[in-house]
Amino acid sequence: MPTYSQDLPVLAAAEVVVLGSGSAGSTAAIAAARTGADTLLVERYGYLGGTSTSVLDTFYGFYTPGRDVARVVDGIPWEIVERLKSYDMVLERPSSYGAGQAVTYDPTTLKVVWEQTALSSGVRLLLHTFCVDVLMDGERITGLVVASKQGLGLIKGRVFVDSSGDADLVFRSGAPFEMAGTDGHEAQSLTTTFRLGGVNLERAQAIKRDELISRMKAANISGDYRLPREEGSIHATPLPDVVVTNMTRVTNVDATNPLELTNAEVEGRKQALEYTRFLREQIPGYEGAYLLNFSTHIGIRETRRMWGAYRLTREDVLTTRKFDDAVAQCGAPIEDHNASSSTRWEYVPDGDTYDIPFRALLPQGVDNLIAAGRCLSADHDAHASVRSMGQCMAMGQAAGTAAALAAQSDTAPAALNISDLQARLRADGALFSGATVLSTTA
Ligand SMILES: Cc1cc2nc3c(=O)[nH]c(=O)nc-3n(C[C@H](O)[C@H](O)[C@H](O)COP(=O)(O)OP(=O)(O)OC[C@H]3O[C@@H](n4cnc5c(N)ncnc54)[C@H](O)[C@@H]3O)c2cc1C
Repeated sequence: MPTYSQDLPVLAAAEVVVLGSGSAGSTAAIAAARTGADTLLVERYGYLGGTSTSVLDTFYGFYTPGRDVARVVDGIPWEIVERLKSYDMVLERPSSYGAGQAVTYDPTTLKVVWEQTALSSGVRLLLHTFCVDVLMDGERITGLVVASKQGLGLIKGRVFVDSSGDADLVFRSGAPFEMAGTDGHEAQSLTTTFRLGGVNLERAQAIKRDELISRMKAANISGDYRLPREEGSIHATPLPDVVVTNMTRVTNVDATNPLELTNAEVEGRKQALEYTRFLREQIPGYEGAYLLNFSTHIGIRETRRMWGAYRLTREDVLTTRKFDDAVAQCGAPIEDHNASSSTRWEYVPDGDTYDIPFRALLPQGVDNLIAAGRCLSADHDAHASVRSMGQCMAMGQAAGTAAALAAQSDTAPAALNISDLQARLRADGALFSGATVLSTTA
């Protein structure tokens, strides 16, 4: 661990400090503040939402896939959807492949929804602040070392939530983790998403998935195009004549390595232009389409996964295991984006869910840290199921509530009474162990 040559100025202090404002972190901060803790949310970019506002426009994980569609996430995550609905910026649609009914939203509006919900819940925000290290006292984190335009500074806290996506706090505090790509599975590929305007939706949607794939294959065989992924989704949005795509594929990248990530950004945008050209030239309905924007940065699916007090496994997912310390649940399939031209899907039994145990959010060897979101403790395949934003938000609600209760009672999160935590979560709308709130038809 590096030492610092001068006393760092203390920029802020809070009972609960949440690092990273993605789906997990924003929800965690809202939950912690509503549970009564003085809460600070620290984010490197100038807005909240992480992947939900930088890269994507569709929440998966709220609904189970298959015939018996049920909503399996409620509480703060569903409140976010309701707030988006109040702006008329939600389009619920059957999933294009079967990841479950999709909740498509306008990401620009979501930026405002995240920050207004956080602020009205009492969260303090610190944007444009990058955490580069932690200070430790034995097995406790005492502060985050952060970088900003003013140089290095310190943020002190009692309990910390790692919702950085990349498990930065787990890594810096020395808690065990597994790096994607080192366990016999390739790290999941990266994707630059892009939005097109000027699409004739009626004609575009008449082209079914199989037809799109066969035209992609033919385009590659012709030698006139280079399309690494011969599938991918294009879907309508709440905005007229605007579609969003998830098509590009950049493989074998360690996204925590800035040089590799730089190359991936360049490659992702190059591919996005190539897919745009293909759509315009080969698919009816896209003749007049124009590129509106790329994702703010390339989308990263998998980097460090914490190796916590419990590690969620592929078997837990496929056997829909329930846990005594459940704090959230998931019915989404294993969705593995690898270097091949297609994607591997494996489904949990129809309409069923598995639990996410609280121990999968707790690190080993660090007393005052909780992880939430895509850096939770899970093996590669379990991670490929549990990483949808519906579940990241549900984990965030659990982590934020637990962090606040731990900070207020001056106890370690691992020492909390799990029944009390579960009762509090249930009272705030969280669902687990098979509970659902709504059946609907996709
Ligand atoms: C291309 C792609 C397509 C996907 N498609 C879908 C989909 O359609 N639907 C779905 O539900 N899920 C989808 N997923 C999965 C899902 O989006 C992610 O698993 C989820 O958004 C992760 O949320 P998170 O809160 O854990 O992390 P993130 O959303 O990545 O948030 C992490 C936040 O932490 C901040 N941060 C990181 N490090 C630091 C630091 N050191 N200092 C300060 N701030 C920091 C980041 O800026 C960011 O705001 C997709 C993922 C990808 C990449």
